[in-house]
Amino acid sequence: MTESREQTALPQPKPEQTGYAVIGLGKLTLEELLPAFAVGRASRLAAVVSGDPAEARAAALAYGLTEADAYSYDDFEKLGERDDVHAVYIVLPNSLHREYTERAAKIGKHVLCEKPLATSVEDAEAMVRACKDAGVFLMTAYRCQYTPHHWAARDAVQSGRLGQIKLMHSVNVQVEPNEGQWRLRRELAGGGSLPDVGLYCVNTVRFLLGEEPYEVSGTLYSTPGDERFREVEESVTWQMRFPSGVVAQCACSYGAATARSIDVFGTEGRLAIDPAFDYQNLRLTVQTGQDVTEVRVPPEDQFRLETDHFSRRIQEGCAPYTPGEEGLQDQKIMAAIYQSAHEGGRPVALERFEGRDVFRGAAPERS
Ligand code: NAD
Repeated sequence: MTESREQTALPQPKPEQTGYAVIGLGKLTLEELLPAFAVGRASRLAAVVSGDPAEARAAALAYGLTEADAYSYDDFEKLGERDDVHAVYIVLPNSLHREYTERAAKIGKHVLCEKPLATSVEDAEAMVRACKDAGVFLMTAYRCQYTPHHWAARDAVQSGRLGQIKLMHSVNVQVEPNEGQWRLRRELAGGGSLPDVGLYCVNTVRFLLGEEPYEVSGTLYSTPGDERFREVEESVTWQMRFPSGVVAQCACSYGAATARSIDVFGTEGRLAIDPAFDYQNLRLTVQTGQDVTEVRVPPEDQFRLETDHFSRRIQEGCAPYTPGEEGLQDQKIMAAIYQSAHEGGRPVALERFEGRDVFRGAAPERS
């Protein structure tokens, strides 16, 4: 495809769209986020930031920007001079999220930060504080909370259609290869399978119920002698207990072939999302008595939904549905799971919250 044909295929930026600088041009950015911006309704790509100037220029040109829209990490503060950059989307290894959130807040830009929000409770708290002090919004990029299948499941759970919810079960496992992997370096990742893939189970259970766990317990396991797990854990199993009496049993691993599911069991029925955390082709089934229905939801780009949500909230001056506090709460839950595992699996208490959606903003528009 020639450059001019590629550029004419791109939608023209509209002035009312929120402009983003995306920092970190790895797999997620190149394969999912930049294509999602190309179909954004309330969002548009305005700049890219990378440690590799050639890579930044290539990405800028491929998505209808100019070479002047490509920045290096050292140039980051120059984005402060750009009135058409309203927000920074941080898509870097986890331990860099805090630094770039603080730098973005300092130059007055809103922040959309990839999950996990940080690598410690302390860092996540500092990020929430930095954005609050600077008067900018911080959103945790929890795409599943903007996904129609997950909303349909939440409606089924919270409407009483399944009766009283008793048990939940969620699994997120995949095989992580060894080569050049920041995910296996504790300093960059903060942990192993738990903050990377297990976080989806923690977050989605909380989202479907709208409740917060008051107690967790967990265990870790890494195959002895497997070089990949010298610094971070391979597998985690854990339990979360909720005020309504729901018990959720979850597992994550970097050592098993891909499986991503969530099951909810109530007194009148059950539901399953399987696959639950993929970017597309999610499948939701609801069973009450002998009746099994597949809930069909039109396919949507999860990343477009997520970024357009944040864009509209920025335009309206309202906090996003999944603010920094939502990511901070997961950080506290994961820290408690690790604490339990290091103390022989004993239950660890968390602050008790009785309300619903206590860390979330107003519900997102359903479009
Ligand atoms: P990746 O390894 O593909 O890309 C990481 C990027 O960070 C690269 O551009 C790399 O050059 C850059 N980088 C800067 N400093 C680095 C350093 N010291 N070491 C390694 N890379 C460095 O990673 P990714 O899969 O794009 O993940 C980036 C973030 O996005 C992570 O926080 C991850 O958890 C998150 N993520 C979220 C989803 C989702 O579905 N929401 C999916 C994948 C990744």
